[in-house]
Amino acid sequence: MSGEKVRREAPALDVTPAVPAMPAGALREGAVPEGLEPEKVQLKSLSREGLERFVVEELGEKRFRAGQLFNWMYVRHAASFDAMTSLAKDLRTKLAEVATLHSVVPHEAYQAPDGTTKVTFRCYDNAVVEAVWIPNPDRNTLCVSSQVGCAMGCTFCLTAKMGLVRNLEVGEIVDQVVHIRRLFPEEEHGRLTNIVMMGMGEPLHNYDNVVEALKLMTHDEGLQLSNKKVTVSTSGLVPAIQRLGDDITINLAVSLNATTDVVRDAIMPVNRRWPIPVLMETLRTIPLKQRRRITIEYVLLGGVNDTMDDAARLVKLLKGVPCKVNLIPWNPHPGTAFQRPEPEQVAAFQEYLLARNLNALIRETRGIEAMAACGQLGKPGTRMPKRLRLQVEAAQQASADGAAEIGAL
Ligand code: SF4
Repeated sequence: MSGEKVRREAPALDVTPAVPAMPAGALREGAVPEGLEPEKVQLKSLSREGLERFVVEELGEKRFRAGQLFNWMYVRHAASFDAMTSLAKDLRTKLAEVATLHSVVPHEAYQAPDGTTKVTFRCYDNAVVEAVWIPNPDRNTLCVSSQVGCAMGCTFCLTAKMGLVRNLEVGEIVDQVVHIRRLFPEEEHGRLTNIVMMGMGEPLHNYDNVVEALKLMTHDEGLQLSNKKVTVSTSGLVPAIQRLGDDITINLAVSLNATTDVVRDAIMPVNRRWPIPVLMETLRTIPLKQRRRITIEYVLLGGVNDTMDDAARLVKLLKGVPCKVNLIPWNPHPGTAFQRPEPEQVAAFQEYLLARNLNALIRETRGIEAMAACGQLGKPGTRMPKRLRLQVEAAQQASADGAAEIGAL
């Protein structure tokens, strides 16, 4: 990176919580949720190779059993070892004694009239994380969480108010996807096609676990999602952005949200460590595979970053960055002074970018009624309809007693 073009040096990856973290003990009271067994081996936290080692070295079984187990977990979405009928009964018994299939259990769901559904999951320590199912006629997208809370302290985001409680384990990230596939079976809802790591947390702040989880999601024997349809969104952790392309091929989205360091410092404290010039130079210089483009996320906050001067600065900043721009009108939540931008201002902002050959989309607001829209995760919304509630309860029951396949309900 050129020294002249940057204002400040990028320090090492060490992000101190920008807002006080919720005491970790706060969520650990109460019994372990039914269906979770934290003392056992978490199978969904193991890589394909790790699973093979476990099967051969710990269980004394043949290597090919790992392939069968992997298939039951990620292709057939088995809810229990008993459902894995191609495995010998004594192997299933052995597995149930030392390992567990479930790393999170569905807790509640909140559905907006457009079908966007926020599903909350409970972890072993009673921490609650959220995933959002976003249906569309041509694709279904799942927004997945990577941390309990978030350390980044973006002032417009509800999750930030929790502070960082802890990182999610690999299995806790992957299991959100497996449970959602069971709750929204393909025959009824269409295939889950897209994953966006844009739920609670800064994915690149939980780098190793997120990369391992993404490998399971895109593994051709695993969840089999196309790496062209999987996106990691970051607030701008520069050293992690620089590493990511070497470790995995997926799409990158960067939350920019301001065109001056003064404003970005104020709304995204991460900017004080990696300011706009450092971030933009990184985006200009990282190698992108397969002609991919970076998605620049720009949350429009009324009167803060939505002026035509901002639009003009944004065009200049993005010069030389292979990108498309997602304009996201800010979604309100209680307890902040921010305003949703005027629709005319959003349209004018987009037109300015389009006229200067920037590919700019206004991201349709989805799930706002269920507090499931961007920046709204961390609080409940409208309760779920009865049918979905029954499915969630069935999933909880299946996790607890290993009795039923949810897809059969
Ligand atoms: S916007 Fe993203 S990075 Fe910023 S606080 Fe919220 S969850 Fe964290």
